[in-house]
Amino acid sequence: GSVIGILGGGQLGRMLSVAAARLGFKTAIFEPGGDCPASHVANFHLQAGYDDTAALTRFAESVDVITYEFENIPTSALDVLEKLRPIHPGREALRVSQDRIIEKDFLTGLGLTTAPYRAVNSEDDLRAALDEIGAPAILKTCRFGYDGKGQARLSSAEDATQAWADMQGAPSVLEGFVEFSHEVSVIAARGANGEVACFDPGENVHREGILRTTTVPARLSASQRTDAVLLAGRILNALDYVGVIGVELFVTPQGLIVNEIAPRVHNSGHWTQQGCAVDQFEQHIRAVAGWPLGDGGRYADVVMENLIGDDMDRIPGLARNANVAIHLYGKADVKPGRKMGHVNRVILS
Ligand code: ATP
Ligand code: MG
Ligand code: MG
Repeated sequence: GSVIGILGGGQLGRMLSVAAARLGFKTAIFEPGGDCPASHVANFHLQAGYDDTAALTRFAESVDVITYEFENIPTSALDVLEKLRPIHPGREALRVSQDRIIEKDFLTGLGLTTAPYRAVNSEDDLRAALDEIGAPAILKTCRFGYDGKGQARLSSAEDATQAWADMQGAPSVLEGFVEFSHEVSVIAARGANGEVACFDPGENVHREGILRTTTVPARLSASQRTDAVLLAGRILNALDYVGVIGVELFVTPQGLIVNEIAPRVHNSGHWTQQGCAVDQFEQHIRAVAGWPLGDGGRYADVVMENLIGDDMDRIPGLARNANVAIHLYGKADVKPGRKMGHVNRVILS
């Protein structure tokens, strides 16, 4: 049988490995850390750093196709891997999503709407950008941010010095604060032959920068739902994409505004595990393996809730509920803000 190589050993790699196993594939994880969530369920774990060319070569040669669970894979590592095996989604999706300014340039170039944004590389830049965009605004590092890390909110120009200090000199982007009514995301997929399938948009609630819940169906009009699905398709086609993508959107009276894209399975798509015949993880494996896609149809309403840090204490209670599916990531240490698992509450009509 074929072996699917996955870069990254977190919970997304773990759930991709489970889906791959169900389809008869073996999985190999490349992950610098030792006891990682994916290594508990994958067939092979190569523990090495992304600067270890010999290890990267060995990894690529041991698999048939390479995918990944996070977008910050160093370019030098991709150069090594790409010469040996196909990588899906491809380099362009990674290049675009690794840097918030390149990403926003790409999205606006497609005719999509983002928050107003300006590059910021100094406190002077920040003050000039604030003059143009106005407050409130959010300053974000261009690279490596997740779960709201590497961000500072500015309610007025008085916050500029502190906000720039928070970036620790990293190239950054100032975004105008979007007055959204709510947040939704589209999880979509494109197959090797160019077919596109979208899951129903989910409505996302964040707390302290971290996703807490995703609810389907989202509060969207029929035309908003169509817009969301079409814009996801436009992004997928423009990137000649193969795999699952997550597209985060702000809902405003003026229309949908794209916040960011993630070239991988996405936390806000975990509801598909209980809501769809083919969930996002199987969908991604199907795409990278060149199989036909599931159609993304939804057969139940679902509320996905992340279990973060001490939320783990609630598991005995949650386990008593017959309509709650529990997904735990096997992480040994509970830390504040750490995603330990999630539950999908299925609401049968
Ligand atoms: P993720 O874990 O989703 O990758 P991230 O660290 O990349 O998160 P963002 O998605 O950019 O961060 O921002 C986190 C949250 O902060 C958003 O979901 C939204 O609630 C809020 N936010 C970010 N940018 C803006 C904006 N321009 N206007 C209003 N709210 C924003
Ligand atoms: Mg992000
Ligand atoms: Mg986000």
